Amino acid sequence: MSEPSLSAHGITPGLVCGHHHLYSALARGMPAPPQTPSNFIQILEQVWWRLDTALDLEMMEWSAKLGALEALESGCTAIVDHHESPNAIEGSLSVIADACAEVGVRVVCAYGVTDRHGADGAWLGLEENDRFLSEGGRGMVGIHAAFTCEQDTIDAAIELADKHDVGVHVHVAEGFADAGAGATLARRSRDNWLLVHGVNLPDGIDISGTLAHNPRSNMNNSVGYASPARFDVPIVLGTDGIGANMLEEFRLAFVKLREEDVTASPDTPWRWLENGWRLVPEAKDDVVTWTYPDMSAWHMAYTTGVRPIDIIVEGKKVLEDGAATKVDGDEIRAKAAEQAVRLFAKL
Ligand SMILES: [Zn+2]
Repeated sequence: MSEPSLSAHGITPGLVCGHHHLYSALARGMPAPPQTPSNFIQILEQVWWRLDTALDLEMMEWSAKLGALEALESGCTAIVDHHESPNAIEGSLSVIADACAEVGVRVVCAYGVTDRHGADGAWLGLEENDRFLSEGGRGMVGIHAAFTCEQDTIDAAIELADKHDVGVHVHVAEGFADAGAGATLARRSRDNWLLVHGVNLPDGIDISGTLAHNPRSNMNNSVGYASPARFDVPIVLGTDGIGANMLEEFRLAFVKLREEDVTASPDTPWRWLENGWRLVPEAKDDVVTWTYPDMSAWHMAYTTGVRPIDIIVEGKKVLEDGAATKVDGDEIRAKAAEQAVRLFAKL
């Protein structure tokens, strides 16, 4: 990133979150599910699939604004988002894109199509990707995961991505239930695809695209270690919806790697962090001024609490003295809290 600096404040480009779910920003503190989930599928069924069905466009707007605000406050200027809201699909990607634009954060949107809600639900998801991309939105075509889609839906999503000349953004082999995803997707995959997790992908699999590694999420869901260094494709770091503090995610990626191999250097996960600019090259022109002078791998691996002071995106200051300039951060937090109350009441 930047050369070691003698000044008090290090400077880097804008950081990129390679896989996010902005719809989940309201989830923290949500009511506990009726039973404690004891595996990954139960976590999906009892937490995330209950949450996403309850979302409406107003909740999404404030969830996305809160997520974008917190990204900016962590030095992240670009988010690659994967969205699902089965009862409010149409227009959802524009709500997210507009929310991020208002805050001043770049976003690459995708609607995660799935047959979990029948063929109609899958069709509406494809339509939303098509509508958003046709209207000039910055995006990819989302697939939730191979194990929740019929083959026809996967085929249609790939065709749609080709039509718009964008990649597919898809969860791959996150848990055992999706262990067959590699076989389903590998031979179809292309360099512009974004494959997320890859925990249960076999070693040496011939797959194309970029792999998003989400160390905190994987540990939180107890799905196992993806060992991303074993793959031949470029690796990026994502948060899978738990904020967008990419320095923290880098530190987690480092200690997880180090737990497996004590000789590992932070240069490896630092490269994964820098690979985010392959997904959103413009973020490399963003300028982030930090509270710490030396923004290099070995310093960041062991320095917690480093915060951005100022951020410039496309020549405009979007963060000044640690506070967002285009929006009122306190108002976003208050409105998001109101929407969280509405959301929790529906659960
Ligand atoms: Zn995800």
